[in-house]
Amino acid sequence: MAVDRFGRNIHYLRVSLTDKCNLRCVYCMPEDMTFRPTHELMQDDELLFLIRLFADLGFDKFRLTGGEPTIRHGIVDIVREMKSVPGVEKMTMTTNGILLDKLAEPMAQAGLDRVNISIDTLDPDKFHRITRWGQLDDVLRGIHAAEAAGLTPIKLNAVVVRGFNDDDVAELAALTLEHDWQVRFIEMMPFGDVAGFAQQQVVTDEEIRATIEASLGELELLDNGRLDGEARLYKVDGARGTVGFISSVTQPFCASCTRARLTAEGVLRLCLLKDKEVDLLTPLRNGASLDDLKQLIRDGVWHKPWGHDLDNNVIPLTRVMSQIGG
Ligand code: SAM
Ligand code: SF4
Repeated sequence: MAVDRFGRNIHYLRVSLTDKCNLRCVYCMPEDMTFRPTHELMQDDELLFLIRLFADLGFDKFRLTGGEPTIRHGIVDIVREMKSVPGVEKMTMTTNGILLDKLAEPMAQAGLDRVNISIDTLDPDKFHRITRWGQLDDVLRGIHAAEAAGLTPIKLNAVVVRGFNDDDVAELAALTLEHDWQVRFIEMMPFGDVAGFAQQQVVTDEEIRATIEASLGELELLDNGRLDGEARLYKVDGARGTVGFISSVTQPFCASCTRARLTAEGVLRLCLLKDKEVDLLTPLRNGASLDDLKQLIRDGVWHKPWGHDLDNNVIPLTRVMSQIGG
């Protein structure tokens, strides 16, 4: 078991398979983003080696992310091999959904349990403006393919950006009337080069809720407000699905955090919003022993920061979201 100095049992690893992406969302990366050369990223054997170490240390829940995880070469085989590592109980993915139409079924067959799909609006023009390169129809097809493949319950993630999609939240929430999906609204967070943009355009959970209620009626709070993962859940009257709020900025959930992140270049990042990191790939390539690597992970986890400090304007500067693994 990997425990931090605050007694939190850290057993959930978000694994970035690549820093690259087939979209360029405005809140995530600049259009002319530069990426790391492939040889600096974990190769398949290195990735699997590190996953085995984490599983040995008690990590049981893994989420594949990026960048865009579905563009990683050999993604179906990677899912299959990671899922067969002893100790890996749950394997999920966060994806922009563009390639799910083709990949949902083979990834489900390979052992993927669920997907979270990012979709910020149902308006095709706005979708293109937010993602710069994306077509909404591709994502909609991807969502249905994921549902048909049994990658359920389907969770949809929308980052809310003032002036882009803040007036689309009710339409997104209304999807839950017809579908047994969880539509989650995420407060935008400030990172590196896009921090200024995120700080000016952030829309709080409270504002989003008020917009939805003005259109769909009062939202019913579920489970007495207990978090489902990182989301606080509500229901629109008569809906099949639920609406979630991930309020990392205004209502951080650090006390119940059980996660760490492994970046595509094999660096253990202990908190999304703090720059503390432990390089694992360099020692692995330099021949570090299994025990040394395990000790590096244990020490890193032990010193996991308590939580973020956005209130005091401490923002993560070294990486943007796609370089961490969201
Ligand atoms: N490419 C995949 C996707 O978009 O789902 C996975 C990686 S992406 C970095 C993971 C999640 O982070 C997405 O839901 C995305 O909307 C969210 N995200 C990116 N930048 C963000 C920011 N500045 N604040 C909050 N969420 C952000
Ligand atoms: Fe790509 Fe996901 Fe970032 Fe959008 S949020 S640019 S899809 S990594």
